[in-house]
Amino acid sequence: MNSIELAGIGMTSQRTRERLIQRLRDQGITNQRILDVFRITPRHIFLDEALSHRAYEDTALPIGFSQTLSQPYIVARMTEILLAGGPLKKVLEIGTGSGFQATILAQLVEQVYSVERIEPLLIKAKERFRKLALRNITAELSDGSFGWQKHAPYDGIITTAAPHAIPDGLLHQLAPNGILVIPVGDGDQQDLRVVRRIDDTSEFEEEVVEKVKFVPLLGGISR
Ligand code: SAH
Repeated sequence: MNSIELAGIGMTSQRTRERLIQRLRDQGITNQRILDVFRITPRHIFLDEALSHRAYEDTALPIGFSQTLSQPYIVARMTEILLAGGPLKKVLEIGTGSGFQATILAQLVEQVYSVERIEPLLIKAKERFRKLALRNITAELSDGSFGWQKHAPYDGIITTAAPHAIPDGLLHQLAPNGILVIPVGDGDQQDLRVVRRIDDTSEFEEEVVEKVKFVPLLGGISR
């Protein structure tokens, strides 16, 4: 991919991107580091060409296999919640999808681990990480319902597909005071929940932040 493609000259001008940043601000995103990362991240390369002209709209967009690239506001909000307690070293994402959320995170934390259950999506996402020269993302094909024990514990876990209830495994892979940001529930809308492990205990405090719309967290892998 050449630099013109990455810059998105033409259909995705800098002005279009600035409009998205302003929209994120208007919706209450205040973390300047996150806004800066959104400004320089080319969202259009996470979409198929036919949709890339819509990349800087604040909407969720299809990425194939009945999955979606989340709305920029939601990506920004979940990232802001995750980072609210200060800088994080190790973060696990469940649901790599297009790789956009992982790309945002990789510019804000030391190391990102990400798992995806649909192999063709994972392959494309990894190709994007390579093109963007992001070397601090490790992604793997697996069912994230069980987290990723190998690299645990994590300072933060972010789940971008909604389970019916919070999987126990995820809680146990949180570092002391680690944060889990996760949409929970069935049906069209879910509760975005934020769970913090209290110090190094097995106790957790939890709050519901807002209503969100995610695809369901499914079991098993698909090749
Ligand atoms: N974070 C993604 C959003 C993708 S949508 C992005 O920025 O584009 C949610 C993704 O979660 C889908 O790709 C879906 O296949 C994946 N997913 C659903 N259940 C999963 C599971 N149990 N383990 C891993 N990934 C899962």
